[in-house]
Amino acid sequence: TMEFTDRLTRVEPSATLAISALATELENDGEDVVDLSVGEPDFPTPENVVEAGKDAMDAGHTGYTTSAGILELREAISEKLAEDGLDHGTDEIIVTPGAKQALYEIVQALIAEGDEVVLLDPAWVSYEAMVKMAGGSLSRVDLSEHEFQLDPALEDLEAAVSDDTELLIVNSPSNPTGAVYSDEALKGVRDLAVEHDVTVISDEIYKEITYGVEPTSLGTLEGMADRTVTVNGFSKAYSMTGWRLGYFAGPEELIDQAGKLHSHSVSSAVNFVQHAGIEALENTDEAVDDMVAAFAERRDLVVDLLEGHGVDVAVPKGAFYMMLPVAEDDQAWCEGALEDAHVATVPGSAFGTPGYARISYAASEQRLQEGIERLADEDYL
Ligand code: PLP
Repeated sequence: TMEFTDRLTRVEPSATLAISALATELENDGEDVVDLSVGEPDFPTPENVVEAGKDAMDAGHTGYTTSAGILELREAISEKLAEDGLDHGTDEIIVTPGAKQALYEIVQALIAEGDEVVLLDPAWVSYEAMVKMAGGSLSRVDLSEHEFQLDPALEDLEAAVSDDTELLIVNSPSNPTGAVYSDEALKGVRDLAVEHDVTVISDEIYKEITYGVEPTSLGTLEGMADRTVTVNGFSKAYSMTGWRLGYFAGPEELIDQAGKLHSHSVSSAVNFVQHAGIEALENTDEAVDDMVAAFAERRDLVVDLLEGHGVDVAVPKGAFYMMLPVAEDDQAWCEGALEDAHVATVPGSAFGTPGYARISYAASEQRLQEGIERLADEDYL
């Protein structure tokens, strides 16, 4: 028999797997499942980006690239970051196959056995797994009592952050809540990070998808340039989940260290995908606006429908998720909703917050309507 390492055996398989397995089983039985569990936009990748990818292939951009990514893309990223107020030259950027790989590399570079990482709950599922794989320990701050906002929880955050804290992960707009943290809240994070000499990851993958708010990049706050690693990617804003393209930008010493992991593992992101990424950054304003407008309408639709059934949710300001308050045993609620109403959602406990289910509204209005109706008909609302 094989013996497996602690770094993997201490990680649980994703709690969402049970739900998707059950959904697939139902679909194989011929049932129509309304899938509100997915974490990806339901739009095609903008056509000009697809063309740019094909053109790059035709032009022979099919070999290895510089490990950190082709210079033209890093230049385009550097310009994009500058628009957000962040100053990172091309030597401070690594292009990765997806933001997930970026986060993995940063955590591997910074977290050793026993190092403490602070998460704001509910938090995206993979942060916990990445920290555990690195041998780190978790300290978690629950935002669910405060409509998922950070300002009212700053005292709790203060209690969680200490000189033992190595890393804090902030994700605004948030998956799974859709919350966008206020400047005041981010300043609170800054004060604690500076006081306790903590590095902060700012996962800004949903930054382009917001409704009437402009999220501040944490790294722009005074005192944060040297201790912030900004992560972003192409999956959500440009509907490019399968292309696998993301990046991180931070202090050069981190880039050098993480770059070793990057070059000895993935080597680089895919060559022609990187060329398509340039087009995505430079020529998709209209496509992104259209997608965001569609998400905004769906958000309003779902919030209204839920309200009509007497369910109040914290109205998301960004991303395309919301947290539905459900039964205490959210896992059982989600399994029941899937079995009885054939609606797939993700249990809040997967994100560290039991008592909720995450709904993704990256689905057509008709499917959203159908899903909510079914949940109501089967007494799940
Ligand atoms: N960060 C957050 C908060 C996410 O929700 C996701 C995807 O679900 C990612 C990072 C990773 O995205 P990707 O690896 O597709 O760029």
